Amino acid sequence: MTDHYALFGHPVGHSKSPLIHGWFAAATGEDLAYRTIDVPPEPPTAFADAVTAFIETGGRGANVTAPFKQQALDLADRASRTARLAGAANALRFEHGTIYADNVDGAGLRRDLESNLDVPMAGRRVLLMGAGGAVRGALLPFLDAAPTELVLVNRTVAKAEALAAEVGNPSVLHACGYPDLDGMGDFDLVVNATSASLSGELPPVPPSVFRPSGTAYDLVYGKGLTPFLTLAQSSGVGRLADGVGMLVEQAADSFAWWRGVRPPTRTVIERLPAAR
Ligand code: NAP
Repeated sequence: MTDHYALFGHPVGHSKSPLIHGWFAAATGEDLAYRTIDVPPEPPTAFADAVTAFIETGGRGANVTAPFKQQALDLADRASRTARLAGAANALRFEHGTIYADNVDGAGLRRDLESNLDVPMAGRRVLLMGAGGAVRGALLPFLDAAPTELVLVNRTVAKAEALAAEVGNPSVLHACGYPDLDGMGDFDLVVNATSASLSGELPPVPPSVFRPSGTAYDLVYGKGLTPFLTLAQSSGVGRLADGVGMLVEQAADSFAWWRGVRPPTRTVIERLPAAR
């Protein structure tokens, strides 16, 4: 019998998730269907009602995107530490009347870096830009990767400082503002997890953070060379990447969590219209 999964969000029509999960299902022989469910933002119970209706008709799991990631966490009976720190969930599993929540964005980003791009973080200096949902999800997976230093920089410095204090680990994790980066030297890996590239903006990051032998990664995808990647390139960075691999890897983490089978991702990344 076909098992049903869905992506809840608003809007969701543009999503590549049904395509990705369809390819995963074909590659692994798993009998599942995956569709998008566009939930209106009003009334306030619309998301919970839509998830309940989906479970009642046999839904086994879901991904959740904006603007419902926080509500997804609130709805869950049990949540992973990453989801709790992120204050948001993007993957749900429905099992024996219990809703489990996780946030697999950060794990997907780490896997794309380490497995697909061959960019290990262990023993390296890493700069993470931003302090929003994506960064909240990435912090624990990044710290687990054992960098020597993880610097969190944000336009609103207090947000980065509060987040670093919440996570702890002060010997590795530091928070600062963009002007502080001037005296900090260069980094093996610079990750732009701000939303600046969505509107063609460049966060005020100084070129001195880039190391020619290092990597610059922008979480947005399908936008070509963003202002951030352009700055990295003109600063001599040889390895540039956007977030298409993260998108596929977080989908693969959801799929593996639901089905107990890890799908192949490399061919999916190459086949996606937004492929790097
Ligand atoms: P968010 O919660 O809205 O946070 C946005 C962050 O960007 C904040 O830290 C904000 O700083 C910062 N920012 C915005 N404009 C800026 C600018 N012009 N200069 C400097 N900083 C700026 O967003 P999010 O959910 O974390 O998402 C961040 C990005 O990741 C988005 O582009 C999203 O599309 C992408 N993403 C990609 C994937 C994937 O699978 N590839 C998954 C998740 C997210 P302040 O705190 O100072 O406002």
